[in-house]
Amino acid sequence: MRILLASSNAHKRHEFQLIFKGHEILLPAEAGLSFDCEEDRETFIENSLLKARTLYGQLKKAGITGYAVMADDSGLLVSALPGLLGVRTARFGSEDGGPLLSAKERNALLLEKLAGKPDAERSAAFVCAISLIKDDNTVYCVQESTEGRILQEESDATGGFGYDPVFFCNEAGCAMAALPEEEKNRYSHRGKAARSILKLIGQGE
Ligand code: IMP
Repeated sequence: MRILLASSNAHKRHEFQLIFKGHEILLPAEAGLSFDCEEDRETFIENSLLKARTLYGQLKKAGITGYAVMADDSGLLVSALPGLLGVRTARFGSEDGGPLLSAKERNALLLEKLAGKPDAERSAAFVCAISLIKDDNTVYCVQESTEGRILQEESDATGGFGYDPVFFCNEAGCAMAALPEEEKNRYSHRGKAARSILKLIGQGE
């Protein structure tokens, strides 16, 4: 299947491609489309469906056929900071409508907000929802998560992106940023959700 990913994040495309072996994951620009969609819904599933529907609509309008469309929405839930991250994870620490902080700045802010809290009060989870539209009548949605906690200090491991250097993954037993790509996919919210979608479309393990 040729799958257009409703994103401009090349790192994400790469993570998906490692899992969707035998399928081709492409970014909208590669089909000649520019994609932008405001993620303003209150749940990960609704945001992923909004993005997938928006891109699917663009494809239809442009008369482009032969692609399924997939969108993901993900974020971090931090139990000590209810409502501050979640679907607003990318905007953590930014003014409404203002420029986003860099990943480094957001990680520093998160550590600052949790300063002094013991590990037992630093529990967190990465969540990922994926929606895949195969055709007008076939839409799949899944949501998966990965449990862990926010580290006391940023790890100096350099893998992954975003919040990976400050997230301790319980299942892996180390910082998410310390995992090589294939292993991150084994434990990550996105890896789990991608495998669930693969199962649904009948090509999973
Ligand atoms: P998005 O909706 O998937 O673009 O992600 C929302 C926010 O969560 C962004 O700020 C990402 O940096 C962060 N995020 C999503 N997935 C991951 C991950 O696997 N590792 C670290 N940060 C992530």
